Amino acid sequence: MAHLNNTGDKLDLGIIGVGHLGSIHASLAAQSDLINLVGVFDLDRQRAAEVGEKCRTKAFDDLASLLQHAAAVCVVVPTSEHHTVAMQALHHDCHVFLEKPIATTVEQAREIVHTGRTKGKKIQVGHIERFNPAMLAIKDRILAPMFIEAHRLTEFNPRGCDVSVILDLMIHDLDHVLYIVQSPITSIHACGVGVVSESEDIANVRLSFANGCVTNLTSSRISLTTMRKMRLFQKNQYITMDFLEKKTEIFKLQSPDTAPEAGDCSMELSRIGTQENMKNIVYEKPSIPEVNSLQLEIEEFARAVLLDQEPEVTGEQGQRVLETASRILEHIERS
Ligand code: NAD
Repeated sequence: MAHLNNTGDKLDLGIIGVGHLGSIHASLAAQSDLINLVGVFDLDRQRAAEVGEKCRTKAFDDLASLLQHAAAVCVVVPTSEHHTVAMQALHHDCHVFLEKPIATTVEQAREIVHTGRTKGKKIQVGHIERFNPAMLAIKDRILAPMFIEAHRLTEFNPRGCDVSVILDLMIHDLDHVLYIVQSPITSIHACGVGVVSESEDIANVRLSFANGCVTNLTSSRISLTTMRKMRLFQKNQYITMDFLEKKTEIFKLQSPDTAPEAGDCSMELSRIGTQENMKNIVYEKPSIPEVNSLQLEIEEFARAVLLDQEPEVTGEQGQRVLETASRILEHIERS
């Protein structure tokens, strides 16, 4: 059970599940300066062999052997398998990066998080949109939104339909709003219907928070168009983020005598308000970092392990997102 040392400054990482997303994890890990990719494992041996060959790493025949050679693993198997595989990895003393959602049930999530904490192992959950350049552009701003609206629409794809659209797509926006708002939820209104699959394919959710913020989230996986947008309104400010186009724009209300901020690429558009209190509408396009979100996410996990830091998206945060998603699903079921 032993664990195995990190090679120099590199993390000995294994990838479990190398289907659609796991194969991308493997190829990015193979290219990373922070990671030593020790191997891959998949129940589909042929798939594992193909990905192993492509990434020039070993395809293990059994999970236990991979776990013995890795200090950490990325778990990229279907959500229904997250708990079983993550618990096995933790029992082998591996740090765990777990794709989103953390698990299928809240009880499973709690057990994963508790075991990780008890064993002193890092758990990071794959809420990748936190690493989307459009979100990174405003990450360090003080945000106190009063209203948030999000639309996440995709065309139909059977992959992911083993769970509701709430767990498949809306989970990203739930993570965003819980991260931004930082206040307890006071009420939930939710509706959703299954049009093509057995679970919800389209849903709308309104969350109210103790600090007064209200969010309105719409997700659909049966749309004819693709959209991933969030609009955020706070005092004297409107922020719009396009996660697909990786674009963020800010519209600010400023009194005419406010000096432009350093590095502000703002321009005056027009004015709004009463005659006594006229404000300029100022447009700002913050600089957008050029990053590959998945690569950044995996490397943040590697850094968290190597430097013994809290991961960017902790197991507790993943658990809270799942708890909220579960409450939403209960509301939909009741209605
Ligand atoms: P997939 O079906 O393409 O791949 C899953 C792979 O896991 C398959 O190759 C399968 O053989 C393998 N597998 C199944 N059970 C296993 C087990 N017990 N042990 C080892 N291998 C096993 O699925 P995918 O689209 O790659 O999704 C995988 C995970 O990634 C899911 O949890 C999904 O929610 C998540 N995901 C996240 C995002 C995101 O935006 N962060 C996007 C897509 C998928």
